[in-house]
Amino acid sequence: MNFEYFDIHSHLYFKDYDEDREEEIEKMKKHKIGTITIGTDFESSKIAIEMAEKHQNLFACIGQHPGDLNKDSVFDERLRTLADNEKVVAIGECGLDYFRMEVDDILLKSIQKTIFEYHIDLALEKDLPLMLHIRASKGTMDAYNDALNILEHHYKISGNKLKGNAHFFAGDMQVLKRFLDIGFAVSFTGVITFTNDYDEFVRAVPLDRIMSETDSPFVAPVPHRKGRNSPQHVPLVVEKIAEIRGEPVHTVKEAILANVKAYFPRIS
Ligand SMILES: [Zn+2]
Repeated sequence: MNFEYFDIHSHLYFKDYDEDREEEIEKMKKHKIGTITIGTDFESSKIAIEMAEKHQNLFACIGQHPGDLNKDSVFDERLRTLADNEKVVAIGECGLDYFRMEVDDILLKSIQKTIFEYHIDLALEKDLPLMLHIRASKGTMDAYNDALNILEHHYKISGNKLKGNAHFFAGDMQVLKRFLDIGFAVSFTGVITFTNDYDEFVRAVPLDRIMSETDSPFVAPVPHRKGRNSPQHVPLVVEKIAEIRGEPVHTVKEAILANVKAYFPRIS
């Protein structure tokens, strides 16, 4: 399919869309907007694949969200059986989430790390990119630093084969540089339409490493702040990226579409 815009991270299976999901997807088709539906556990990963099999403009990403893990969690081996589906374009969302921890929980951190490494192994085994969810505890870069230590190690031992994207980038310059050094891409949400906090990173990412996302149903961009978000709003994110970078919208738009194909080769 020939896309005009691409939202690399959304959750259209959320109940928020129960009333009008099919309409929403049809409108996206009309405007040539594609999206990757991101699973957060085995069940939602399976649903993401079912949706992708029904619609040409949808693709699936399968994994376990680090923020949902607890001290009894293990890697869900059933994910392995889903990864060969041709509509699965990435592994995730996976990574480390220390934001929701009330105390420094060493056991939970080590469980998150172990399960993250299973996702990395699966991505390498299936030659798929990672969709990273990394969220540090307030005012720190702790989860980013831990995740990058793991990623850099696997990047090296895989002979630089590991690839992926850091979703909802909220790191600092040092973190950004480390992602770029291992060849990863970085994506931004509608958050950039209502805060200037990420402008310096939007400018610092090379044009061949940047991608657009909505993280729907969360963080709707201006002027839809109060409503439910939708992949249909991704053009607003692309326009804002162009504005912040001082580049023509069509240049940024074309670059992002090329990046989507380069980073997610199963998207066509
Ligand atoms: Zn997500």
